[in-house]
Amino acid sequence: MNLKKVSHNPLVSKALSMPTYPSNCLEFAKPFSSSVTDSPDYLQSAKVPLNILLVGAGLGGLATAIALTQSGHKVTVYERTPVLGEVGAGIQIPSNSTRILFKLGLKSYLAPYVAEPESISFRRWQSGEVIGNTKLVPDFTQNFSAPYYVIHRAHFHTALYQKVQDMGIEIKLGANVESYDPVAGSITLADGITHTGDLVIAADGIKSVARTVVLGGVDVTFQKPGFAAYRATVDVERMRKDPDVSWVLEKPGLNIWIGDSRHVMTYTIKAGKAFNMVLSHPDATDPSTWDPSKAVEDMKAEFEGWDPVLTKVIDMVENTLKWPLTSGLTLDKWVSNKLVILGDAAHAMLPYMSQGAAMAVEDGLALSRSLSKIGNKEQLAEALSVFEKVRIKRAGQMQEASLLNSHLWHFADGPLQEARDSAMAPEVLGIAFSHSPNQWSDPATQMWCYGYDTEKAIDEAWEKSHF
Ligand SMILES: Cc1cc2nc3c(=O)[nH]c(=O)nc-3n(C[C@H](O)[C@H](O)[C@H](O)COP(=O)(O)OP(=O)(O)OC[C@H]3O[C@@H](n4cnc5c(N)ncnc54)[C@H](O)[C@@H]3O)c2cc1C
Repeated sequence: MNLKKVSHNPLVSKALSMPTYPSNCLEFAKPFSSSVTDSPDYLQSAKVPLNILLVGAGLGGLATAIALTQSGHKVTVYERTPVLGEVGAGIQIPSNSTRILFKLGLKSYLAPYVAEPESISFRRWQSGEVIGNTKLVPDFTQNFSAPYYVIHRAHFHTALYQKVQDMGIEIKLGANVESYDPVAGSITLADGITHTGDLVIAADGIKSVARTVVLGGVDVTFQKPGFAAYRATVDVERMRKDPDVSWVLEKPGLNIWIGDSRHVMTYTIKAGKAFNMVLSHPDATDPSTWDPSKAVEDMKAEFEGWDPVLTKVIDMVENTLKWPLTSGLTLDKWVSNKLVILGDAAHAMLPYMSQGAAMAVEDGLALSRSLSKIGNKEQLAEALSVFEKVRIKRAGQMQEASLLNSHLWHFADGPLQEARDSAMAPEVLGIAFSHSPNQWSDPATQMWCYGYDTEKAIDEAWEKSHF
């Protein structure tokens, strides 16, 4: 909310201009300020509609295509796979992302597929004892004006794709982009045909070709924090039949068991029909040496001796996919002339804040907001520079927060683990607290992470760059 700019109520605008320090003291006055452009249901319209070529139809690419089309640009999406889809199992859509997705008109598209967990419980690795707790319902919806969802990845992708189709956005499948010309604003496909636009956006994922072009021909080396994750689902009917584990399904919630160098994140997806698990463990070996036929067996061995409830569920896993976990370095550049990268191409991160795709959704809205500022095509460079500056900071801090969880969650039993668990005790007991090592609960982190106003961040940076 920018009371200074948007309020139509003289009492509010005169006396209550937004403080320059981080504060929520004016939240109560929100109902007194309104405007069409800052309405939760409208995107700022582009004064200069652009012809945009967007590479990659993953979660980030599709969300960005929707945001840009909604604000008046013409977007054509180029995707190398002939058949669209998403691999893997569940994904969390945190409130900072759902708020934007609703604004983009996706609420009804997501509704058939999502589940809304009531809380996140941190559990001790050996016993399952609850050692940390974040209430999501109603707290997150109330505090951050949007629910916290979980969903199957394929369903998330389907919801975005349905919206893309309903909006008439053109997607060219089987279109492998082989090279970029940032100065001309063009891409050349494997069939040799070159397409030119006012702007090229590459949401081409962690192995991005465009990133190397933006960085001047040399790609970055990735941080290898030394973790891999098994991703698996378990049939809930099987779990329900077992009284030892059926209680895990009683309430829709996220449960995360944490222990020495490992953790297991769980929640139900497919509207409660499948139990999703991400099992993170140390593994710095080369993925090309992994034997998929041994994955189930290896996964069980990794968590031997953990809470018997958890290991019983792990024993029910029939198939699993092992995934390498990498974290990109924070880049100092996302833009080269008329080429911009976003999503995992620009800010791959450990999935430990559950924010990778959420950052890509924010990128899409931020770019649309930034481009809506320009009054002529000569200002494109300025809009991209504002976008780049704001988003490098935000996504870079999220990379940092994700990496921090890889330490906070993985202490071996000992003094640090005991201090961490004591610091989380008030949230379990329902006592007021001002800080917590659980970054979903820690008040300052929570406000920064889920209360972030993407459009306001762009507005402020644009004003700063102008005056
Ligand atoms: C285990 C795990 C759990 C996760 N959990 C969460 C979570 O709970 N919440 C969350 O927000 N995020 C989570 N993430 C992160 C999230 O999955 C990613 O950040 C997100 O999917 C990235 O989307 P993207 O569109 O940027 O890239 P991608 O999904 O990689 O899409 C890139 C697209 O570009 C296409 N492409 C690539 N090169 C070309 C080319 N040359 N020409 C044409 N097309 C091309 C690809 O085919 C692909 O379709 C998790 C990640 C992992 C590994």
